[in-house]
Order: sequence, then C-alpha cells, then structure tokens
Amino acid sequence: MLPMLSIDQAIERVTTTVRRPSAAAEEVPLADAVGRLLAADVRTDVDLPPFSRSTMDGFAVRAADAASPGAVLRVVDESAAGRPASRAVGEGEAIRIFTGAVLPADADAVLQVERTATVDGADERVRLEAAVRPGQNVARGGEDLRRGEVAVPAGSRIGVGHVNLLASIGATRLPVVPRPRVAILATGTELVPPDRVPTGGQIRESNGAMLAALVRRAGAAVAWVETVADDRDRIAALAGRGLEADVLLLSGGSSVGDYDFTPDVLAAHGVETHFDRVALKPGKPTLFGTLGERVVFGLPGNPISAFVSFHLFVRPALLRRAGLDDVAPTRFRARLDEAVPRIAARDQVLPARLRLDDGRWRVAFAGWHGSGDVTCLRDADALLPVPKGDGALPAGEETWVLPLDGGRLGSSALSSS
Ligand code: AMP
Ligand code: MG
Repeated sequence: MLPMLSIDQAIERVTTTVRRPSAAAEEVPLADAVGRLLAADVRTDVDLPPFSRSTMDGFAVRAADAASPGAVLRVVDESAAGRPASRAVGEGEAIRIFTGAVLPADADAVLQVERTATVDGADERVRLEAAVRPGQNVARGGEDLRRGEVAVPAGSRIGVGHVNLLASIGATRLPVVPRPRVAILATGTELVPPDRVPTGGQIRESNGAMLAALVRRAGAAVAWVETVADDRDRIAALAGRGLEADVLLLSGGSSVGDYDFTPDVLAAHGVETHFDRVALKPGKPTLFGTLGERVVFGLPGNPISAFVSFHLFVRPALLRRAGLDDVAPTRFRARLDEAVPRIAARDQVLPARLRLDDGRWRVAFAGWHGSGDVTCLRDADALLPVPKGDGALPAGEETWVLPLDGGRLGSSALSSS
C-alpha cells in the first residue's frame, strides 16, 4: 500500500499527473459544438458588423446639416435592410432608413423617426425636431470585430453565448478537442444486470449506469460498460481491454478484501499507481493510476463512495483529458442548516442539499440510514466537506460546498465549467 493521501493531496496528484490530450483535433458542426473545447483560434472572415448600419428607423443625414433642432431636409431615397439606397446623401438631404439598413454614403448619423415630422409640400421633406450628433444611431462597420481578428481563442469552452458570434463569422464547422473515451467495468460476483430481479445475496449492478451518466455529464464519451464477477483472470482480461480506452473506471474490488482484485490486476498490467487510498469517508478505497497517457481509477463499489470519489478525483481527470486547465472542483460558501456529526479520524465529504434563503445559500446533509443508501443521492445537489474533528459541526457555521453538475439545481447556475 502507498501512503494515504488527504483529499486535497489526492486531487492535486490527479491534476498534476493527468495531461491534456495529444490526439489531433476533430471537426464538429456548430450545432454540436456547445460544451466542446476549441482546439484552434477561430478568426472572422468579415468585419462585424459587415457594414455601417442604422440602429433605428428614421432618417440618415449629414450631422453638419442638423447641428441644431428644426432643420428641414429633402428626402431623396430610402435604405431598407438588405436593400441599400442607390445614392449618397447630399447637402440639405436625408434618406429614409430602417434598422439594420446600410448607412448611405456621406451620411454620418440617423435621427429616429419619433423625433421627426413630415413637412407638407410637393416634394417629400422632413423636419428634424432634435439636434443630431455625428455617429448618432449608427453602428460602424467593424466596430465589434475586424476581419481577420481572433473571434474565439483556442482553449475556449464553447457556450451558448458563443453560438451567435460563431454563426456571424461563418464558423459552421469547428476544430474541437476530442472527448476522452471512458471504459467502465463493474466488478462483483453479487451483481446482476439492472433488468433482472436479484435473488439470494445478489444486488443490481447500479454503478455502471451512474458512472456512465456522470462521465457524459463531464463531457466525456462512454466507450463501454461491462460487469464481471470477482475472478482475477476475467477482471484482468476486461481491464486489459479497458486500458485501450483513454480512461478506465473500475467499480468495486478496490480495497484489501480477499476478493478485491483491482490493485493487483492493474499492477500486473503495468499501471503505475499514484495513490490507492484517500483519507476520506466515504470513498477511502480509491485508486488512481496511469499507463502512459491512459488514466485508471479503481472506485469503491459502494455507490455513495463511488459518487463522491467520482466528483472529487475522476471528474477533474476527465476535464483535463478534455483539454481544460482549470479542473479542480468548483466550491463556494454556504451556511449549515443543521448540525453535522464530525468523525475524529477522517474528513468526510457528504451528499448535501442546497437551498436559497433570502438570496443566500444554505446547505444540509442529505441524510442516510447507512453508508450504502442511494436515496441520499437522489436528494443531493452538492457535496459537503466536513473536516475531521470532535463533536458536531454546528448549525449556522459557514462552510464550503461543492455543487454537483447535474444536481436538482442544474449545471448552469452553479458550475464554473
Ligand atoms: P466493494 O467495493 O467491491 O467491496 O463493494 C462495496 C459494496 O458496494 C458492496 O456492498 C457491494 O455489493 C456494493 N457494490 C459493488 N459494486 C456495485 C455496483 N456495481 N452496483 C451496486 N453496488 C455495488
Ligand atoms: Mg466487491
């Protein structure tokens, strides 16, 4: 066994060991790009906006003709969106214009229609009820972005806010960092598939489905999910196949029991083990290893432990393998709603519920009957670190919480990544 690491040491070991991917970029359509990491700078092939345009319905004028209110100008043409005027604005002239239309040559301002009045007479004339400044109600071509400039730099995580810009600059196919492919292997002789009814000491294999969902939620791809009995040779064979993926997650068998084969099997495959225990409850028997570029985790079979370990250690590894730099779990401060018992010997990280109270976050332990109760995960939208110590952490205490991606509150409000 290796020295037991603290939670923070273990997270740091993961984030300093796992490297960004070396595989070449892949190309995806813009429609599929949200959530992906841009592999190269994207530059614009046009000025944004592409031409100087009006931001109002009104009259395009030469500001010099209308420096004080009351000027009367001849209306000589029209410029509508997609249908520019066919002439320039001369001295004493105005061109009727609409939002999004090209500013006519020699015009330098637009007065909105609400500030004008029509003047009766044979030819069309308009009176400007307000003084006009140069540049008023005009968006200059290229003022947002110049042709050739970088619109979105490499390394950006594409969000919904990028999509309009990318479409505006014609970036319909985007070079993105490939998603890491993750193999998931659940070990345990007691396990039956979730679509079977367990009998005589069997339980349903539930970690595979949970881990697959967590993997996808972290932006990675599931290569496969398999279940295997506690049989060293069969685990070794499947683990060997799993080591062909970018990341292998084993569930169960990571501890020191007679039927816990994960550590030995991985060592036999040449995996370098960086840690095999963490001073954490639940989640102590968590193993982290690498084989060249490939990453392996041995997670505890206990579903709560696997869930907690995934968030603390696996998710940062997946994010790094997806190309992100800043991968440590997001955390923020909240106030404890109820006292939580501490344990003298070990730091705990507990499933917890968040609620907003008058604009402030409050957090409570989601509660369980025993250490394997999965209903507390249903109720959790955060993890609550409880440092080791004597007595309870009192209600009202300011504490850290780690929001869960995909919890009841959704990802956008709370997750930085
Ligand atoms: P282990 O880590 O293999 O000692 O398993 C710890 C506990 O988690 C035992 O009660 C197992 O039956 C349970 N367990 C292990 N693997 C799974 C799984 N894939 N799905 C649900 N429970 C599991
Ligand atoms: Mg087991």
